[in-house]
Amino acid sequence: TAKQRGKASFVRYTEGMGEPVLAHMQLGGELRRALDDGELRVVYQPILRLADHRVIGVEALVRWHHPTRGVISPAEFIPAAERTGLIVPLGRYVLRETCHQAAAWLAEYGPDALEEAGLNVSARQLHDPDFVADVTAALTDSGLPCRRLVLEVTESAVLRGQQVSRTLYELDRMGIRLALDDFGTGESSLSLLRAFPAAIVKLDKSFVDGIEIDDGRPAAADARQAVARAVVQLAHALGLDTVAEGVESAEQAAVLRDLGYTVGQGYHLARPMTAGEFGVLLDRQRSAPGLTRGSAAAR
Ligand code: C2E
Ligand code: MG
Ligand code: MG
Ligand code: MG
Repeated sequence: TAKQRGKASFVRYTEGMGEPVLAHMQLGGELRRALDDGELRVVYQPILRLADHRVIGVEALVRWHHPTRGVISPAEFIPAAERTGLIVPLGRYVLRETCHQAAAWLAEYGPDALEEAGLNVSARQLHDPDFVADVTAALTDSGLPCRRLVLEVTESAVLRGQQVSRTLYELDRMGIRLALDDFGTGESSLSLLRAFPAAIVKLDKSFVDGIEIDDGRPAAADARQAVARAVVQLAHALGLDTVAEGVESAEQAAVLRDLGYTVGQGYHLARPMTAGEFGVLLDRQRSAPGLTRGSAAAR
């Protein structure tokens, strides 16, 4: 019944995705239509070297341009997409779009413009028996080399058993790089690093928030710094790259650099932007290396 479905959706939403602004049952149907009507668009958030704000990579993030509600955040509709299974075609769309876009940027701005392009993959996609074939097709059709693709997965998605594990190892063998997203928020972060072929660890924003505060709540800032330091040291010991997420100020960037982070992502560095805007950033970087920052941070 409708009541049961409403209840079930509420339970799912409370699992870490925030308040259910659109937690009603017709969302799944609306999303199907949105996908067919081209209302889902991909924006790209630059991932920058902290030392000089040079572009290292980019993360693709989906947006829903709803005809009456305006732009809807993925936190509001990804849970429904996962519940209904629509995440599979939705994710395939983001995958294909990102691969084609990244290949186009590399063709236009050269191999040094961008090391890699990443996108988020949910547990449901990793369970889809066609997922590896979809990834292979997206790479082949776009011409994007395997090593340029990053698939971001969360700890909870990875902890879903044998099938997911096989898929992840297969992707790793293909040369695709796997990133552990929101690292540190799961229940078994450390053992996962051994049990899973990760190439990149993305330190969760919750450990970056307040990391720069040295008065008021010194103990809290110390604790965040201790976690951030431990994560970067462990990652380096295991030969993994790191990205600090949610960098919102120059002070945070400075502390993270002191702790050993070389790469970051966040509003202070650059906001998510359209493909066209990201092209402008790459163009500016090519003509004036090191001067990308003002343009990116101003948005
Ligand atoms: P995520 O993968 O951890 O992506 C980072 C999120 O943090 C993005 O939110 C980004 O806009 C936001 N962010 C970046 N820098 C800052 C900052 O300095 N401050 C703050 N407050 N936020 C910052 P967004 O785009 O709303 O996406 C939310 C989540 O939705 C993503 O978290 C990811 O888990 C999921 N998501 C987004 N696109 C996709 C997709 O195509 N497929 C799947 N499966 N999940 C997606
Ligand atoms: Mg991500
Ligand atoms: Mg993340
Ligand atoms: Mg996150």
